[in-house]
Amino acid sequence: MITVTKPYLPDIAEYEKYVKKIFASGWLTNNGPLVQELEKKLKEYLGVKHLFFTGNGTIAIQIAIKALELKGEIITTPFSYVATTNSILWEGCTPVFADIKNTDFNIDPGKIESLITENTSAILATHVYGNPCDVVAIKAIADKNNLKVIYDGAHAFGTRFNNQQVLAFGDIATCSFHATKLFHTIEGGCIITNDDDLAEKIMLYRQFGHIGDEYYSIGVNGKNSEFHAAMGLCILPQMEAIISKRALLINEYNTIISELKLQTPGALANTSYNYAYYPVLFENEQQLVKAKEYLANCSIFTRRYFYPSLNKLPFAKGNGCPVSENISPRVLALPLYHELEVTEVQTIGEYLKKFLHKKW
Ligand SMILES: *Cc1c(COP(=O)(O)O)cnc(C)c1O
Repeated sequence: MITVTKPYLPDIAEYEKYVKKIFASGWLTNNGPLVQELEKKLKEYLGVKHLFFTGNGTIAIQIAIKALELKGEIITTPFSYVATTNSILWEGCTPVFADIKNTDFNIDPGKIESLITENTSAILATHVYGNPCDVVAIKAIADKNNLKVIYDGAHAFGTRFNNQQVLAFGDIATCSFHATKLFHTIEGGCIITNDDDLAEKIMLYRQFGHIGDEYYSIGVNGKNSEFHAAMGLCILPQMEAIISKRALLINEYNTIISELKLQTPGALANTSYNYAYYPVLFENEQQLVKAKEYLANCSIFTRRYFYPSLNKLPFAKGNGCPVSENISPRVLALPLYHELEVTEVQTIGEYLKKFLHKKW
């Protein structure tokens, strides 16, 4: 069986070393030594000033919206995981959807300005599949219109753009360290900013708004534990190996998929990709559904990702986004994980070829 994803597991002896340390200290959570060590190492790895390890990638977005005091309308992408739109709604704001580019499926900067009203407070965009948004164009629009920018960088760990980590862009960037993500801590995420005042607020919001007996602001529980930090500390040193294995697999996929003439998303120039996902586009939704079923019957499991187009969520009351509504029903993420073998990618390719040559 080939699953669509499989969490990377480090050497168990490595993890046990950390577990023994935790048991010896008795310090399980609340900004413990391993959380602090992970945050320090992540800041070095990503080249960012402030980074807060959180319970997950969704609370990270919610805290980001709160810390920037966003109100009213937030211009966002319809092509992301539901957590992006949900966080906007959860914080009492209104998502306004700017359609995506049909090249890299990221928010189209050219569609943003006409949606700006006096109620717009920010742009919240996702670096889809780990490919960077047009951060330069988005910053220019935000600066001109006095808007804040948040990037949902849940897919973007390790991607570089113009020789900088893509997670360094935006007033705030967030990431998810969920078990299915490229770098993970089982459950987890982070909030990144280079602004000292914002960092102070985020620090408080993550821990109920108080330090000891001093109560400064409202807050929530956005913390994460020593056990989760330990997983991150085991995996971080493996990132180079993890990314190069995926590059190898994606190279193989690219050879196969270009022969089959299936479309895949492109990326901006000056991108050094993290090889997070391998999505392909079918001609139409019917073909995708049949392909997914065909592959499942061959014990190969894929995922519709991202689907549906978020402007179509029944509770989002979204405006129309023809490009996203066209791409979303046709896009399928193929299996990609560290233990996947090149020969298995070839097998997936063989089945896809059989499927596409079949008369339906
Ligand atoms: C995974 C993901 C999230 C949510 O992260 P969690 O850690 O699962 O809360 C948000 N946005 C995108 C784009 C994601 O892929």
